[in-house]
Amino acid sequence: MKTDTGRGPSWSDLRDDLVVANRILVDQHVLDAFGHVSVRTAPGEDAFLLSRNLAPGLVTAADLVEYDLDGDSEDDRAPYLERFIHAEIYRRRPDVMAVVHSHSATVVPFSVVQTPLRAVLHMAGFLAERPTPVFEIRDSAGGATDLLVTSSKLGQALAETLGDGTVALMRGHGSVAVAGSLRAAVYRAVYTEVNARAQAEALALGTPIYLTPEEGATADRTIGGQVERAWGIWCDRVRATLAGSGGHGE
Ligand SMILES: [Zn+2]
Repeated sequence: MKTDTGRGPSWSDLRDDLVVANRILVDQHVLDAFGHVSVRTAPGEDAFLLSRNLAPGLVTAADLVEYDLDGDSEDDRAPYLERFIHAEIYRRRPDVMAVVHSHSATVVPFSVVQTPLRAVLHMAGFLAERPTPVFEIRDSAGGATDLLVTSSKLGQALAETLGDGTVALMRGHGSVAVAGSLRAAVYRAVYTEVNARAQAEALALGTPIYLTPEEGATADRTIGGQVERAWGIWCDRVRATLAGSGGHGE
């Protein structure tokens, strides 16, 4: 595992962005005391950065730990129990640079009913390719688990459910959102929750008209150029909390 020495300024920027990502996802009600966000250390590397076991709203740069794809680290501080979610998605998906695992409130109901989560908003075109798959932990580990993904084996099964997609739900638990950049993964996690709210409201009113896969792909290309705009305003909202934590810029 590489040391910070020699990583250069982009390494420091990546760590700063991961701290900001934690704060944004809390501010946007995607993460609470639980859930986590990670980033691959560099394209093609079999390692990722993730906070030690800590509420995301408290994460600073000093809390970030580098893990390998077995979920191991040289850092002896307590890790997140579900770091295998991140490890096994990075292993299966070389294109994925960031992973968000959340329990966001409006997404979870779609994991326990027959109605799939689907794109109803142009801002969530990344959900339009298919009905969002649901990971059923009973298929891998039987009917008496705590529903947590606490091993490489369970991480592999979840990564298989995600396949080549952008989002997968976890029955009775939460979801994962992935992307080719940290900022895009944050965007997708936020808009997965926004879309779930809109879809739930639409279902209460009548039968929704969902985006076609083609509309989703076109909308996703357009919105892909706008991720920085969302990141900018979300970042501004959490700047005050970062100033008080001593976590930014370290
Ligand atoms: Zn979880």
